[in-house]
Amino acid sequence: MQDQIISNLQNILQRIEAACICSNRSPDEVRLLLATKTVPANRIKQALEAGSTLIAENKVQELKEKYDDLKEISHTNHFIGHLQTNKIKDILKYDVSCIQSLDRIDLAEKLQQRLEAEGRTIEVFIQVNTSGEESKFGVHPEKVLELIKRVSELNALKIKGLMTIGLFSAETEKVRTCFRLLKELQQQIISHNIPRVEMNELSMGMSGDLETAVEEGATIVRVGTAIFGQRIYPDSYYWNEDKV
Ligand SMILES: *Cc1c(COP(=O)(O)O)cnc(C)c1O
Repeated sequence: MQDQIISNLQNILQRIEAACICSNRSPDEVRLLLATKTVPANRIKQALEAGSTLIAENKVQELKEKYDDLKEISHTNHFIGHLQTNKIKDILKYDVSCIQSLDRIDLAEKLQQRLEAEGRTIEVFIQVNTSGEESKFGVHPEKVLELIKRVSELNALKIKGLMTIGLFSAETEKVRTCFRLLKELQQQIISHNIPRVEMNELSMGMSGDLETAVEEGATIVRVGTAIFGQRIYPDSYYWNEDKV
């Protein structure tokens, strides 16, 4: 079991490196994030001990359950799931340094209130729905700029970039369209020179499409299945509003 995780990790790092070489990028421009939903703490621990440093959960409940088991091993926690406003207080207890799934102003404002009360700040990515699929969260591409302008006025939130989940399709070129759109939005936002807004990060690409994402400029790829194996829950359990 342990050896499997280690060899899967090596395999993913090689895939990232190969994709970087193909697109004339340096492999250290791309960070691997482990998407750990449904994975028990002891298996996440194996990946951390093998050298991984960046992990992310989709649900506050899972973050909480695994927190004590993982806190001794140095790592960084991001959050990549749909965040309900009534979970804000909870999520801030568990050392999440970045919320990659910020997609609406009411969530941003409630985060600001809570962070201000605690005298803290947090990093955020704006999640964009680049595939047009109803089952995925994220702000509509045409509304991204407006959302970013408003979030930029909330001084406890530090915008670092954009995140998206690409279309699920075996057709690489259709998936590529999503990633290319995210990159274009990034460039557009940069050109507006909005105070306090950094746009260095593009979090895109998963087990099945990370090469395409790296070719289109990903700085973080989020990988679960290809490292930890198949999950027992379908992704709709995490990605559909009525199920969360
Ligand atoms: C589960 C998940 C991933 C990883 O997906 P895999 O196909 O298992 O690699 C990436 N991003 C988000 C937001 C996820 O929920």
